[in-house]
Amino acid sequence: MSIQVELPDGSKLEVGENATVEDAAYEIGEGLGNDTVAGVVNGDLVAKEHVLSQDDQLVIVTDQSEEYLEVLRHSAAHVFAQALKRKFPDAKLTIGPWTSEGFYYDIANVELDQEDLEEIEEEAHNIIEEDLDIERKEVSREDAEEFYEDNRFKQEILDQEAAGGDKISFYEQGEFRDLCKGPHVESTGEIGGFKLLEIAGAYWRGDEENEMLTRVYGTAFPTEEELEEFLEQRREAEKRDHRRIGEEMNLFSIPDFAPGGPHYHRAGMVIRRELEEYIRGKNEELGYEEVWTPELNKAELWKKTGHYEAFKEDGEMFAWEQDDTEYGLKPMNCANHSHIFHSDKRSYRELPIKLSEFGTVNRNEQSGELSGLLRVRTMTQDDGHAYIRKDQIGEEVRKHLEIIIEMYEDFGFEVNFILETKPEKAQGPDELWEEAENALKNALDETVDVYEVKPEEGAFYGPKIGVEVEDAIGREWQLGTVQLDFVIPRNYGLKYVGKDNREHYPVMIHRAILGSIERFMGVMIEHFAGNFPLWLAPEQVRILPVSDENLDYARELKEELGNFRVEIEDRSWTVGKKIQAAHDDRVPYMIIVGDDEASEGTISVRDREENEDRGFTVEEFREHLKEEVAEKRLEPDFLG
Ligand SMILES: [Zn+2]
Ligand SMILES: [Zn+2]
Repeated sequence: MSIQVELPDGSKLEVGENATVEDAAYEIGEGLGNDTVAGVVNGDLVAKEHVLSQDDQLVIVTDQSEEYLEVLRHSAAHVFAQALKRKFPDAKLTIGPWTSEGFYYDIANVELDQEDLEEIEEEAHNIIEEDLDIERKEVSREDAEEFYEDNRFKQEILDQEAAGGDKISFYEQGEFRDLCKGPHVESTGEIGGFKLLEIAGAYWRGDEENEMLTRVYGTAFPTEEELEEFLEQRREAEKRDHRRIGEEMNLFSIPDFAPGGPHYHRAGMVIRRELEEYIRGKNEELGYEEVWTPELNKAELWKKTGHYEAFKEDGEMFAWEQDDTEYGLKPMNCANHSHIFHSDKRSYRELPIKLSEFGTVNRNEQSGELSGLLRVRTMTQDDGHAYIRKDQIGEEVRKHLEIIIEMYEDFGFEVNFILETKPEKAQGPDELWEEAENALKNALDETVDVYEVKPEEGAFYGPKIGVEVEDAIGREWQLGTVQLDFVIPRNYGLKYVGKDNREHYPVMIHRAILGSIERFMGVMIEHFAGNFPLWLAPEQVRILPVSDENLDYARELKEELGNFRVEIEDRSWTVGKKIQAAHDDRVPYMIIVGDDEASEGTISVRDREENEDRGFTVEEFREHLKEEVAEKRLEPDFLG
């Protein structure tokens, strides 16, 4: 008996019944067999001992594969656990998966501080040095249960996840063994760079009702150099952390009573308003009409569009019963905008009809997922919906893509587009999906040279173009989006009267240029490290009088710069201290005025890049500020 599996190139491979991933690799070639670390079967990373089934889709993982890093990091988690047990034999292990940044291990029955972490890390380096073979062992359920007699966490895993089969897989290295499905690298020596990063707390199984465990984060790489590079980027990222900068510049806060609910303080609101005005301008260029719709609606609204099915069932929507009726907070603005479209008779001549809104939406993100401004529960999208005819798709999508490129350039971001296609939860007939995907593809082909395709990542109503930007230190963020939708107009019964005098469904474009203002702000704060371009800076100019005698002249100057955001530093400090404070506050320009300037009617100017010069008139400075703001220059350049 033999079975067939499918390889990445679509070809079929015939292997014996009960063949493993490794057997299949040997079937392809001996070299590949020898190099096999693991496999990806139907999208899941599995051990090379995994037994294949008929029609499985198989990818062989070697140390050259992308997935190798994940395997190596899971092995690093085991190395950490082994080192921990050598130092703290009473510690109880629970789970220790790899992550996109490295790995973590949740442990019980032990309290760790920074010093302990250093000791454990040193021991981990010993284990890597010892180059221990990592071996898979299958044991009986009885033996496994006996081994974990006094570890109720592992017992629970045995009961639940390892249920079914009688054979339980362990991985062993030296004196250490751990209940584990794998996969792993061949020996601890394959880990080139290993570092423990931080100690945190986490509930067992992420459930607040459960015991609080100690979580240790770490990372690992095949080489020391890759680790160094990662740590350097991490240090840079920490310096730019938007939560820290947000506090330092008094931009926003997210108090405990509003998890995922940012509060904009005065300075943060200045930036937000500038962003909104900027987007309003772009919306006008694109022909949008601004509307406003309520957050609170009856749930029946989203039953009509199909959002209810997509959001409510995932628990992503806030909804509750009141007076025997189900209400909810809108998770998207599409349904309300569709109502506005629907509220009037529409003719083909009027199309496209484009509605935009700074729409505040609420989504029930899990508390563990919340992260500063980057992931929140209450957010405002620069949302927009264009209702168009089919023959307008190409032009409209292209226009949106062009404005997105232009707009992100204003912030110094590089843009990559990602085409995301039909997901599993898709609604609507296949032909419509194909048509929509082709339309987006064509628009992309006409606008950009390259773009990425991510299968099955689209929305339930249609395929998307995701906007991914690269920030100043090379990190990628997904922000805006342009989506094409043939489904919601049908679900909602949207119609327009065509040239033929008959009713047709419009096509809908969903788009957000910035995405959510919160997330964009978070990314932007880190991108600029708080050094905002003049047009966005909450405080654009600070006037520093040398002594209190120069305060009157300072006030005159402030008056002359009336259209800009100017503050006077009136604390009785030395000039040196005033300059330092303005630098700390990341103010683009300082004007320094002493007796000489006051008597000559001139100003001395210093910028946050520490350029300084004197003898300017306030008029020439003001003219320059106007230009710098209008052109949205990224850096202050009055002083070259
Ligand atoms: Zn494991
Ligand atoms: Zn929408």
